[in-house]
Amino acid sequence: MLEIIDLHAKIADTDTEIIRGLNLTVKAGEVAAIMGPNGSGKSTLSYILSGREDYEVTSGDIRYNGESILELDASERAAKGIFLAFQYPVEIPGVATMQFLKVAMNEQRKARGEAELTTPDFIRLVKEAAAKLKIDPDMLKRPLNVGFSGGEKKRAEILQMALLEPKLCVLDETDSGLDIDALKIVSDGVNALRSPDRAFVVITHYQRLLEHIVPDTVHVLYKGQIIRTGGKELALELEANGYADVIGEAAE
Ligand code: ADP
Ligand code: MG
Ligand code: MG
Repeated sequence: MLEIIDLHAKIADTDTEIIRGLNLTVKAGEVAAIMGPNGSGKSTLSYILSGREDYEVTSGDIRYNGESILELDASERAAKGIFLAFQYPVEIPGVATMQFLKVAMNEQRKARGEAELTTPDFIRLVKEAAAKLKIDPDMLKRPLNVGFSGGEKKRAEILQMALLEPKLCVLDETDSGLDIDALKIVSDGVNALRSPDRAFVVITHYQRLLEHIVPDTVHVLYKGQIIRTGGKELALELEANGYADVIGEAAE
């Protein structure tokens, strides 16, 4: 589903190369965890995947279902089913969460050349998704993220992800980490959405999240490269021994 080939990328209008020859393959149905010390380029990778304009790919390729997406902008990538979970949720005062979700869904449908959702269809879809994710529908009447607790923000984000039905979900969890409730919300949400035709790239600094979202593959990102790939046991090894051993072996 996702194939990143010898990718080099820098911050636009600078010479600062952050991604330096990164290779990564993620298959449909797979949950791939990306781990790595602070400053390795994890968040940069997620922004580049989502098509943010502040980064420039200088060489290499990103292929999604066999086709390069480098020429596609962020909304075109979203229309194709690539979803980046927001690391820092935006507050939208005056717009009920329901309304925001409807606009987001209809924008995506428009980009795909599909008809707008009717209000009854939209309400049915939201109710189904909210029930599946155990989200209180009352939350959806409040403005998006305004005064939301950390857990409510995560619920809104996971609900948005469920409704947009992405094929490739990229989740970048901040290094500061989630509290245990938010962790449960995110992991239950991801686990409910796992399916053979959907892949997840879960970016995390700590192993903790991966106790709840058990990955199929674990990749260590360091200085803009994947320096080691393994199964879920690699996350445990990193938790026990830190990154130093893996970094040392890669340097040899
Ligand atoms: P991680 O998410 O793994 O902690 P980041 O992708 O946030 O790493 O950052 C990778 C490197 O790029 C770091 O050295 C960081 O300082 C640098 N960096 C990220 N964004 C910028 C920016 N806008 N300007 C300059 N340097 C940046
Ligand atoms: Mg960081
Ligand atoms: Mg980061």
